[in-house]
Amino acid sequence: MRVPDGAREVLRALENAGHAAYLVGGCVRDSLLAGAEAAVHDWDICAAAKPEELKAALSGYRTIDTGWKHGTLTVLLPDGRYEVTACRIDGAYSDGRHPDSVAFTDDITADLSRRDFTINAMAMTVDADGNAAAVIDPFGGRGDLARRRLRCVGDPDARFAEDALRILRALRFAARLGLTIEAATGEAMLRKRALLQRISAERLMDELSGILLAERGWAYLREYRDVLTELVPELRPCVGFAQNNPWHCHDVFDHILLSVGNAPAELTVRLALLLHDVGKPETAATDEAGVTRFRGHPEVSAAMAERILRRLRCPARLTREVVELVRFHDVEVQPAEKALRRLLNKLGAEQARRLFQVKRADTLAQSERSREIMLPLLRQGEALLERIVAEGQAFSLKDLAIDGNDLLARGVAPGPALGARLQRALDAVLDGEAENEREALLAVALRDGAETR
Ligand code: ATP
Ligand code: MG
Repeated sequence: MRVPDGAREVLRALENAGHAAYLVGGCVRDSLLAGAEAAVHDWDICAAAKPEELKAALSGYRTIDTGWKHGTLTVLLPDGRYEVTACRIDGAYSDGRHPDSVAFTDDITADLSRRDFTINAMAMTVDADGNAAAVIDPFGGRGDLARRRLRCVGDPDARFAEDALRILRALRFAARLGLTIEAATGEAMLRKRALLQRISAERLMDELSGILLAERGWAYLREYRDVLTELVPELRPCVGFAQNNPWHCHDVFDHILLSVGNAPAELTVRLALLLHDVGKPETAATDEAGVTRFRGHPEVSAAMAERILRRLRCPARLTREVVELVRFHDVEVQPAEKALRRLLNKLGAEQARRLFQVKRADTLAQSERSREIMLPLLRQGEALLERIVAEGQAFSLKDLAIDGNDLLARGVAPGPALGARLQRALDAVLDGEAENEREALLAVALRDGAETR
């Protein structure tokens, strides 16, 4: 492990002013994990000093009061920004979100005891050469890391009642680091899950995104499905909902989570998969032969996804992209140039690529028969899509070799009819009936048709 120069400098400045100073939290956890398993991204520092003393000790540096009420300031140095916090003890949490008050202390162990999990409740001193000197680990975080175990500091029920966001943080850390959630911690997460309703939608969305992006996030969401359905109650009817048809071998809920696990770690794609079949229970119909079909479920799921993501205050663009993928997830995409140029025209290159990722992940979570038929088609389609994009083929109006000015210059009146002529030229290109070449397209666009005035 190599502590960056900036962090060493801040630690030294604090010590020179007579305060014990430590690296703390995530950076200690991640640097204790062997090798490159988890790279450190923030070197947080904690000092046994009152906030005013912190400020005085760091007066030679540019600082920002990022959380002054809680004794936190940020130091700006050439190699990055460092958050420095005064050691503190939190008062009671009567709102289930924030402490009512904080008190400053010079006891690092007291500060560590307010932190959420044993693996996050360690501090470390650094010697003059920048090497780790001592690890302060009052709650057995090191042992838990070695045993790959996630455990609350103190009584789990009390800790989740103080701040229910910790329930989702538990899933995120466990999923990211591949930890087993200790039984008492896991049981308390389930018992306290209703308190998540007190947490702001933005913070819930942030944590849900972090869990979805973690390597095994899907597996933890499947195991802790009652936590997930606290955030997305619309998924509750999917649990155990049988899909009696040749294409499926899992119930709707399991299929959904397995599909998330099959996808690359991209938030748009994983969110789309989490919501792609949420409308299935509502649209299910079983025929006399006992086969269940879900006609219209993509449209219903898309409408539900939009409501869910709005409620979670998901950013507008992400919402739009996820909803679009949900709506299109079941369209048949032929591995043919014409069909793929049409798809590119409708979705754009980025979303068309994601749609293939969604479809592949969806298929991989289906029956063997479904996989055998679909996967080769998807592979061909994807390869062809990449070729069309790489060749720079035209698939939207802005790619065309002509534009509105060319038509105006040839006496076409401005207005909707002009747009229709351009569209006719684009259609010819999409269908492979014309090259994307000026003269050819002008001939198509200027041909007499209903649009002529
Ligand atoms: P990450 O790699 O996700 O940043 P981290 O451990 O640094 O992991 P942060 O959310 O940045 O997590 O918080 C820094 C530290 O603050 C944590 O390691 C933990 O000790 C403490 N902490 C953060 N949030 C909470 C919370 N809600 N309850 C208790 N302690 C918390
Ligand atoms: Mg952090």
